[in-house]
Amino acid sequence: MAQPQEDNLFKNVISHAKEYGFIFPSSEIYDGLSAVYDYGQNGAELKNNIKEYWWKFMTLLHENIVGIDAAIFMHPTTWKASGHVDAFNDPMVDNKDSKKRYRADQLIEGYIEKQEEKIEKEVEKAAKRFENFDRAMFVSTNARVVEYQNKINEVSTRLAQAMSNSDMVALKQLIDELEIACPISGTRNWTEVRQFNLMFATEMGSVADDANKIYLRPETAQGIFVNFLNVQKTGRMKVPFGIAQIGKAFRNEIVARQFIFRMREFEQMEMQFFVKPGEEMKWYEYWKEKRLKWHKALGLGNENYRYKDHDNLAHYANAACDIQFNFPMGFRELEGIHSRTDFDLKSHEKFSGKKMQYFDSEANTNYIPFVVETSVGLDRMFLSVLCSSYQTEKLEDGSERVVLRIPAPLAPNKVAILPLMKKDGLPEKAMEIMNDLKFDLRCFYEEKDAIGKRYRRQDAIGTPYCITIDHQTLEDNTVTLRNRDTMQQERVAVADLRHKLVDACSINNLLRKI
Ligand code: ATP
Repeated sequence: MAQPQEDNLFKNVISHAKEYGFIFPSSEIYDGLSAVYDYGQNGAELKNNIKEYWWKFMTLLHENIVGIDAAIFMHPTTWKASGHVDAFNDPMVDNKDSKKRYRADQLIEGYIEKQEEKIEKEVEKAAKRFENFDRAMFVSTNARVVEYQNKINEVSTRLAQAMSNSDMVALKQLIDELEIACPISGTRNWTEVRQFNLMFATEMGSVADDANKIYLRPETAQGIFVNFLNVQKTGRMKVPFGIAQIGKAFRNEIVARQFIFRMREFEQMEMQFFVKPGEEMKWYEYWKEKRLKWHKALGLGNENYRYKDHDNLAHYANAACDIQFNFPMGFRELEGIHSRTDFDLKSHEKFSGKKMQYFDSEANTNYIPFVVETSVGLDRMFLSVLCSSYQTEKLEDGSERVVLRIPAPLAPNKVAILPLMKKDGLPEKAMEIMNDLKFDLRCFYEEKDAIGKRYRRQDAIGTPYCITIDHQTLEDNTVTLRNRDTMQQERVAVADLRHKLVDACSINNLLRKI
């Protein structure tokens, strides 16, 4: 549960994102569209940089991974084969008094979270009381904590069972038994729990008779599976190999709140790694570790990431976990790592009647490869970067500044070029410097307002460096270089700027840490 302070942080981040051109509500002049957002001039740059970081990691650092860009529309049978037509459902329940709709499983998970919080509170209290506090011992022996833990175990097991059996009656029973109340109305006046398919459907073809029901893809993965042999043959790929893709996905989420965390139109960065059957667990562990390293290399704080195994495996998986991030509302899924077995390829073989087999020339046999998938939401990545880099600081002169400490390689602008005054040839000199740097670094030019005010604006959009051109520049060809994080200023020769800044702002700088 988010603490009030964290709620405030989230609210501040949301309004900051709008005020500084990162994210706008979609079609805002018509009062917006629920759970759909547009990325503004700074947001689009940050998003592109995150994509580049992911794409380069996958396709440059792994010689056996290639990227594709499949269409959003796919043959409707694709979604029969993948199981989405029959099983891509969420259980929904309405509160009759508030008329609010919830995901039944999330209401029950909320109950579990509350029990976990109770345990943490007991642990905190005890840790204050005892000097040589042994957490594990306390948790296993304290009667109240044991009771909470037992309840968590029981509810988790029943939830997992109900979800995997699609047992709506059992979910309703749990909601009633646990006396879960609607956070809005406070009542327990619930409807039955019903299944709700999350796919958006539309029609293809100009004449009604020709119209064919097709879906907006709910995940990008299927575009990779149906192209598996095209890529393998034309790229002469040998198992193990991967196919990466970045693209839009659409889900008619029942409860789409929490800003860009859960949207109806969002973007995924997915990689399907095709392996020899029997080797999937080795690769599952490999990708779990690699992907966590990729996240941690951003420097947003190692303590903000954790793994969470799935209690409830999807129909296609034999192992699955999430990498969770500590968002303002608590630890939540950022990326999923799934061992998808040969479910998808096998199913496409069955539905299409086309062979989906790989010929292993070394073993001289054919087989359908197993698949390990890494799937991260681009928008959730964006949110993790924005929330953890947003900071307010008290300065020595008593004033306050808001700074986005976005990792330099991801920042929308790398350098702000600021002539101290709008006269005496300073703007011309500034443009000369900008024209030299702009091929390597995204520069932002501004000459209006006092320099302090301009620095603050750059802090607020996360520009890691400001270059100030003054009268001394005209004499000795040096500028003031200001660092966003430390606010330190140093005098640097114009000739040294590129060499000083390009490496610090390069995506490669992050990639080398992985
Ligand atoms: P959740 O449990 O939060 O609904 P999921 O398990 O359904 O997510 P996956 O199907 O594993 O998600 O999708 C992979 C990734 O896509 C997620 O880790 C998440 O980052 C992102 N994602 C999924 N649904 C959304 C959404 N509605 N809005 C934004 N990102 C999403």
